[in-house]
Amino acid sequence: MDGLIMDYELNVPAILRRGEQLFGDKEIVTRLPDKSWQRYTYAEFAPRARRLAAALRKELGMGDGDRVATFAWNHYQHLETYIGVPVGGMVTHTLNLRLHPDDLTYIATHAGDRVLIADKVLWPLVENFRERAGFEHVIAIGDGATPDGAIEYEDLLASAEPGDLPDREIDERSAAAMCYTSGTTGQPKGALYSHRAIALHSLASAMAGVLSVTENDTALPVVPMFHANAWGFPFTCTLVGAKQVFPGPFLDGESLLEAFQQEKVTITAGVPTIWMGILAELDANPGKYDTSSVRAMVVGGSAAPQSMIEAFEKRHGLRILHAWGMTEMCPLGTVSELTSRERALSDEEQFRYRAKQGTPAPFVEMRARGPEGIVPWDGAAMGELEVRGVWVSSAYYETPEGADRWTDDGWFKTGDIVTIEPHGYIEIQDRSKDLVKSGGEWISTVALENALMGHPAVAEAAVIAVPDEKWSERPLAVVVLKEGASAADDELREFLAPDFAKWWLPERFEFVDEIPKTAVGKFRKTALREKFASAQPAETA
Ligand code: ADP
Repeated sequence: MDGLIMDYELNVPAILRRGEQLFGDKEIVTRLPDKSWQRYTYAEFAPRARRLAAALRKELGMGDGDRVATFAWNHYQHLETYIGVPVGGMVTHTLNLRLHPDDLTYIATHAGDRVLIADKVLWPLVENFRERAGFEHVIAIGDGATPDGAIEYEDLLASAEPGDLPDREIDERSAAAMCYTSGTTGQPKGALYSHRAIALHSLASAMAGVLSVTENDTALPVVPMFHANAWGFPFTCTLVGAKQVFPGPFLDGESLLEAFQQEKVTITAGVPTIWMGILAELDANPGKYDTSSVRAMVVGGSAAPQSMIEAFEKRHGLRILHAWGMTEMCPLGTVSELTSRERALSDEEQFRYRAKQGTPAPFVEMRARGPEGIVPWDGAAMGELEVRGVWVSSAYYETPEGADRWTDDGWFKTGDIVTIEPHGYIEIQDRSKDLVKSGGEWISTVALENALMGHPAVAEAAVIAVPDEKWSERPLAVVVLKEGASAADDELREFLAPDFAKWWLPERFEFVDEIPKTAVGKFRKTALREKFASAQPAETA
């Protein structure tokens, strides 16, 4: 229309241009597999990302929309792929290293991946699916001999100049990246992210009140780059010019804390299991690490127990920022950043809010649907969360059978059961498949788990539904005790009793050495159900 604002493409090339032009001297730092550190600047990174894009097109014949798979830890070459591939008009497809070779074969084949870029240190795993997935080219990253049949990453880069990349604008509505859900709940399904979604997701993530990422930050994503785009950090940081620190293969508490201290990390992100490891390391070594630079530890992927949030803050002065998201949402949905309303409350109330999942990011809208329709925002009525927004998938990639995840009016059904408060704070009660339905009423396994993990003897707790003749289902708690600690069923039940209705309390507790985890570090409840579901009928109150 005459006189309107220009149509500027919101795309990954624009993210790269900004990072390079304005923040050329900012650093990107990586821990290499031999534990040494690699450092370079945005000014060195950007031409390498462009070389990669040019070489993939010129040398390997890749074209617009073609898929380039990655199988790699978090490091600078992975960042070059993240940014370079979409800058060249192709699509980065991050493969999860922890998946079974059959799943990897399925995912890579389904996505149509033509090229694989993989770490040499992961080659034994690569060999398990590389033939079957039928990649046309395999590119190897890192030191050491080039594996058979692979192209050396550095040789590929050297084969092109940044200027070889065709000078053209990339349509913001074309695909830039893709991820598959990790299959916690069935066959993995692909989410295809547009340039526009990534650009707006980066902008919103950087906003104050969301993750507040600025040029002044040093970000260390512990969350793998193969788990929902490392929650967008590589794109967000490049857009705002934040220093980026990548931990390589070293995700243990000690290595991460060393990295926080050495690089003066200000913001970091990962799933609760990672933070449990860090908390244990900090508790065991008082005063060993200087973590004073860290302003926020973003926790998501599973619920962050309130006890963990409090332990970090009260014992170590470290602040957890709880966030909720999904592969189908780029992935950011909500952040539990307190508003002035909650900050006026007591400390105890503020912790309670911070353990909730929070309020939606801009341009993401939410509602919840119960058996009788959309539920009120009263903090009590439970319903399945539905979302729509500027970076929410509109369909799974070539998976027509997944279409039932979208409502007739185009909202995405998350599968998460929530309550929503009058001011829009959401709290996840459960995944719909994990809820316990006892005597026709829902019991939140997440609420029970979080409470149990607040008991001093409990390291981890997962609650699952087991069949029950009288009540249809009852909760069973699977507990891992801390080393050297002990606690009996009765003690744990009494610990829960003040906070829950009597009929919510599990009759049965199973004590195990370890809770099986999914490829992204969540409790694998399907495995627990298989193990314990044939349980004897519980005696219920
Ligand atoms: P998968 O579905 O394969 O586990 P995702 O990483 O996309 O892969 O998982 C998204 C789901 O993870 C959400 O639907 C929700 O159930 C859970 N989740 C993510 N963040 C949180 C959180 N902060 N609290 C509770 N659950 C969360």
